[in-house]
Amino acid sequence: MESIKEIYKIGNGPSSSHTMGPLYATKCFIDFFKKNNIKFDKIRVTLYSSLAWTGKGHLTDKIIKETLKDYNCEIVFDYKTLTEHPNTLKFDLLLKDKIVSSKTYISIGGGYIKENGVEEDKIPDVYQFSKFELFKQYIQNNDIVEFIDSVEDESLNDYLSGVVDAMCNSVEKGLNASGTVAFELEVKRVAKDIFEEAQKEKDESVRRTLFLTSYAYAASEENASGGVIVTAPTAGSCGVLASLVHYYLHNLKIDKKRIIDALKVSGIIGLIIKNEASISGSVAGCQAEIGSASSMGAAFLCAIDNMSLNQIGYASEVALEHSLGLTCDPVHGYVAIPCIERNAMGVLRAYDSYLYAKHISKYRDAYVKFDDVVKVMRETGMKMNEDLKETSRAGLAKINKEV
Ligand code: SF4
Repeated sequence: MESIKEIYKIGNGPSSSHTMGPLYATKCFIDFFKKNNIKFDKIRVTLYSSLAWTGKGHLTDKIIKETLKDYNCEIVFDYKTLTEHPNTLKFDLLLKDKIVSSKTYISIGGGYIKENGVEEDKIPDVYQFSKFELFKQYIQNNDIVEFIDSVEDESLNDYLSGVVDAMCNSVEKGLNASGTVAFELEVKRVAKDIFEEAQKEKDESVRRTLFLTSYAYAASEENASGGVIVTAPTAGSCGVLASLVHYYLHNLKIDKKRIIDALKVSGIIGLIIKNEASISGSVAGCQAEIGSASSMGAAFLCAIDNMSLNQIGYASEVALEHSLGLTCDPVHGYVAIPCIERNAMGVLRAYDSYLYAKHISKYRDAYVKFDDVVKVMRETGMKMNEDLKETSRAGLAKINKEV
């Protein structure tokens, strides 16, 4: 598996696969035609499948147009052509209406792209395992963080320090913002209101719920407005870890170093899911995004609490198991409804899963192991109807379709 850095990426929302990936593909294409000195008078970009169905709501066309602002550019939404991967986009260079050069890219999730038909530049492996049970064998009685530090390069701590800052910035920006997100959907920002409710609340557990909820809303509302967020593991699910990090750093005053170390453990969980299943809503539904984020969040909380590797596996498994089958059906294709609220539910599920691991795991071993649930999540995603995987053709996405 690759470095933990690959799971946490700082960039603009609202979607790692539908915004960050296409942005990167556009930059690669510009490099290509500049390097080859190709003459053209127009660039046509065709968005296929999921990128066509939810591209507008995910600002795919906007980010491409902005990046190509110095050129004559046309965006085509192709809803009919079947592509092997749902996130496919093609760039054509035209001269006097004739195609002179083309390239097709696939946005494979988490902000990564791959050029169609070209062998992927393999991201170097840092970990010689992609299963939790093998991870346990590497650790045995050793310290988890010491092991991670021994295989990652020394820039990891600085990198994660920047990740913590960016997560907290996204929460703070969201808490200070007002107005609406998601353009014509006009979803009112409410993070600030929930935060004020939390400050007034006397009951400690309700207070924690409201703080965590307000932070998840804040980061997710920033994401919905195209602001800077951290993928954890995706942009759509950025609110779960950002909420926990902000709560532990600012409310509980936990040392930043401990938070960075806990992010390393949650990063391993995210990488296992990414390598063994998927973290992309268009490939496996929202179970792969919010389910994975909850699972990572549960691991983060166990790590902060110095719990054992078995308890980390238990908590991560519970969070993912009870997200199985979760569909991706954003209303009008905007990463807003159900996504913002789903991040808040995701952080609460992470917290409950951590509590279950702490208080219940001692009475009975988990019947379902973490590696099992990751495999089941992948299979469930493969069997899920395509209409429910980030196409906005079914489910909640159909509500008030006439708006
Ligand atoms: S429903 Fe879930 S997977 Fe789909 S866009 Fe929203 S957060 Fe991402």
